[in-house]
Amino acid sequence: MVGYLNEIERLIHLLTRLPGIGPRSAQRIAFFIANSPVDYKKELIDVISSISQSVKKCRICHNFSNEDICFLCRSKDRDNSIICVVEKPQDLIAIENSGGFKGRYYVLYNLLSPIDNIMPEDVDIEGLIKAIEFFGVKEVLLALKSSVEGEATSLFISERLKDRDLTITRLATGLPMGGEIEYIDERTIFEAIRGRKPIEK
Ligand SMILES: [Zn+2]
Repeated sequence: MVGYLNEIERLIHLLTRLPGIGPRSAQRIAFFIANSPVDYKKELIDVISSISQSVKKCRICHNFSNEDICFLCRSKDRDNSIICVVEKPQDLIAIENSGGFKGRYYVLYNLLSPIDNIMPEDVDIEGLIKAIEFFGVKEVLLALKSSVEGEATSLFISERLKDRDLTITRLATGLPMGGEIEYIDERTIFEAIRGRKPIEK
């Protein structure tokens, strides 16, 4: 193997950890960055360093935020009776953009997946329960993808919440199997929220 400069090798190594980036793409991006104007490199450094300094997770919904409590959790114009559970911040954005939901959110980050060593203790249900109690939620809408992991996590959450006086619902069917919520069009999400169905307890 051709030996690159240490810094470029380190950059390639870091880039291969990004989602969807294989070794060839990592190499291409690393050389692009190395060869780009100083201003571009500076801006990249600035934005990454400000993300690591000022972006944290909201104490209630765990979405990324510049504040301890994010603007969605602080907003007085949201419906406290319903909370939407999503896998990741991108899904929250997709649901928000659909215009079909005005309640509260909770971001899980992990879906149950024993194959990938993601176990029940890695899914933060305690945080969800705190958010439910904080807002006085009556309905929990599980907006997780239609996949083995999404199904297992929905069942796990509804099982953990079954003794509480809550209605647990899920998005209507019609979402593509295995499809990431973030890539589904707004109209489909809107209809899936409107047609949401209770999960049998
Ligand atoms: Zn929040």
